[in-house]
Amino acid sequence: MTIINKDEIKDRVLTENTAQGILNHLRDLESNRARMQGRWIWELLQNARDASVGEDTHLVAFIELREGELVFQHNGRGFSADEVAHLIYHGSTKLEDENTIGQYGSGFLTTHLLSPEIDVAGHLSDGIPFSFRLKRENSSAKALSDSMDRAWEEFDASAEGVPDSFTTQFRYPVGTDSERAITEGIETLKRCAPLVMVFNRQFRRIAIKSPDESISFEVVERKPLPQEGLQIVTVGENQCDTQRERKYILSEGRRASVTVPVALTEDGPKCLSLDDVSRLFLGFPLIGTEDFSFPAVINSFRFTPTENRDGVYLGQSDDETNNTNQAVIAEACELHVKLIEFVTDSQWASVHLLVDIPPISEQTWLNVDWLQEQLTQLIEQIRETPAVLHGQESVAPKDAIFPVEGGDTGVDILWGLLDEVESFRGKLPIRAEAVGWRRAVKSWATVTACEGTSFGEAFDGGKLVSYIEEETRTSESQRGTLDALQDVLVEEVCAVEWLNRLCAFLKSEGLDQWIRKGQFILDQSGYLKRLSDLYRDMDIDDDLKDIGEKYLELNTRGYLRDNRLTSLAEEVGRGDRSDDEVARAIIDSLQDLCEKDTLSDDFAQASTRMLAWIVTKKQWNYLIGFPSFSVRPDDSSRHMLRLSPQDGDEADIPFAPVKAWPEELQEFAGLFPSDYIVADAFFDVIPNPDVWRALSERDYVRTDAIINSNVSPGAFLPDEPLPDGDHSTEDVVTMTNVVFLTKDRVGIMARVRDSQERARLFWRFLTEWLVVRDIEGLDSKKVTCVCGGTHRYYQANWLVPLVRNRWVPQGNDIRDYATAQSLAKLLQGSGWTPSSLRETSPIVKL
Ligand SMILES: [Zn+2]
Repeated sequence: MTIINKDEIKDRVLTENTAQGILNHLRDLESNRARMQGRWIWELLQNARDASVGEDTHLVAFIELREGELVFQHNGRGFSADEVAHLIYHGSTKLEDENTIGQYGSGFLTTHLLSPEIDVAGHLSDGIPFSFRLKRENSSAKALSDSMDRAWEEFDASAEGVPDSFTTQFRYPVGTDSERAITEGIETLKRCAPLVMVFNRQFRRIAIKSPDESISFEVVERKPLPQEGLQIVTVGENQCDTQRERKYILSEGRRASVTVPVALTEDGPKCLSLDDVSRLFLGFPLIGTEDFSFPAVINSFRFTPTENRDGVYLGQSDDETNNTNQAVIAEACELHVKLIEFVTDSQWASVHLLVDIPPISEQTWLNVDWLQEQLTQLIEQIRETPAVLHGQESVAPKDAIFPVEGGDTGVDILWGLLDEVESFRGKLPIRAEAVGWRRAVKSWATVTACEGTSFGEAFDGGKLVSYIEEETRTSESQRGTLDALQDVLVEEVCAVEWLNRLCAFLKSEGLDQWIRKGQFILDQSGYLKRLSDLYRDMDIDDDLKDIGEKYLELNTRGYLRDNRLTSLAEEVGRGDRSDDEVARAIIDSLQDLCEKDTLSDDFAQASTRMLAWIVTKKQWNYLIGFPSFSVRPDDSSRHMLRLSPQDGDEADIPFAPVKAWPEELQEFAGLFPSDYIVADAFFDVIPNPDVWRALSERDYVRTDAIINSNVSPGAFLPDEPLPDGDHSTEDVVTMTNVVFLTKDRVGIMARVRDSQERARLFWRFLTEWLVVRDIEGLDSKKVTCVCGGTHRYYQANWLVPLVRNRWVPQGNDIRDYATAQSLAKLLQGSGWTPSSLRETSPIVKL
């Protein structure tokens, strides 16, 4: 029997198995190169961290990119022989203890994406230097296993060592195919190194050197804050000759810690936004968690990552790994709230950045429902925490007011509007942070999958409109008035101006539906109504509005939108209203009032002022049939009197007010029927006789008692007795008439018969006024008669009734024709005699 060397066989088989495992893993890596190629840097840093001694800040890691090679060095403790063996022979089987995070496990193999060869050098724990080459081509298991054996033999014999200050060195010969891996690894490191320093107390410095740049990160200070478990970590970043400091506030717990960047400015401390960094750290970033939904970076050494180290299992099953990971996140929420409480208590700026939660993105390792529940609780806690800074105090978000409409400008404008609402002032965030809080509140809505405005504190345009509607209608006495709105607003704000700004804001944000829907548009009588209930005022004269409102109960202004709402200028609303509609409504209303038995004082006011308006504006068309009034002298009652009668009967055109008559005629006013004289009240509002003359020229009123007309009179008054027979003319001749001389019942002839006094006045009118005014009427003119002859006639047609009527009262109800005797009797005692008749020659012809 052949003697079997059992140990040798076992070693060979184990080596071959390991080689096979490593080969498989290398092939996997190669096929996932794009995703894994940046990972090498974290494996190397982790290797350094695992070699650290305790927690004190002593570890220095140095990454140097030289021509054709990349060198990584650190100053951790030296290797044990076991560790060298693990490094060489370790394959895919994990062999990781509690405190080392996969040292030389499968993770380390990812560094082969830089190069299949690694020159390893270092010190053993007893200080003896060593070096060997680890070459891992992924050609075959046999080649690998031979190569591993060669490395082990080389280690045995080597004694090169590394530069004094370091204990470990990995050197990778690199070519162009590693360029992307190198760039990606170094860029991620530059982004995450400060956070790595924050979370891993072991590191004193991480330095990167390449032909292009030299950059190093160093912890400058860890300063505890008054609140236990909180500290500010300052990381210095030296790049070439420039130095800058990054600061982080760190909240540490038993299993987790959370941090966010901060800045100490001249105005005081403020929170900064997280860049595009991993949100979950297991000492080092878990690449792929950049969009994890959390408003801070969480680190935990208790996390169990996914195999690809791109996440941690959260709620995907009920095993211990999941439970621990979930517990860490829950603790992180508590730590974060503690952090928020501290910074708000200390009046830090931009706290909204700490509560702005990114949307939940789906991951294979994540139970979205579970995370949503966690975050909903976190949001509720945040809403209870006085995190909103305004002035010198802070309020909890749920007691605050956030403008959440539109873009940044929209938010700013809405802030201005809300700040002027009495009960909101003091609840708003400071103006500069309003946009940030809008983002935060919107993020809560996204995370909890609800409407942004379902949070009571979030105010958009619609909510503000509803609030105004409600608040201006709380008391019965002030139902939707401008005064009620003024009470809602802070004292120094003009409510109209505020409303105008609100409307402009709603329009600019495209919220026209609220302008249409809301009951908050100001009318001209001080009430808040719907846009659709109000007409657009096309520059209606205030006089018209006054007339309609004061005297006719037309509520004219109640239907008109207040023109001070200039932002609504383009809105039609119920329609357009101009002078014409209002003027017609006034006249219609006056017409209606005419139907009543007595014409009220309001009617009188409206009628006179309306006529004044028409005249001032020269709007003559409203005058046809205009309902003015006269006043009866006996009982002062008013009677409707239409100007320019619509049926066009010239005889019915009324007199202008007496005061507008020629002065010589005024004393005879009592002769004319008072029902046909426009009341003096009209002269009081239009005291210019020229205006009345102009109206009379247009035949709306008359100011003279004589009318000249060209007519075919038929019968005429001859200047001498004519022979028997039919005498009349078909000629068109000029005649003069005295108005209202013969009008039924109320004409002059009808009324002088009953009053000697009036008859005497009439006599004076005839002899002192009429004969002077119509001197020509008493001359005789030729006319062709139907009898075939020619006669002479008097042009003064008014002579006819004077001659043909018994109108001269003689006392005791006796009346006579106008004769020398009857007139003498009427006028006796007045100094008149028939001889004085002769002196006034023309009337002699009577
Ligand atoms: Zn004749």
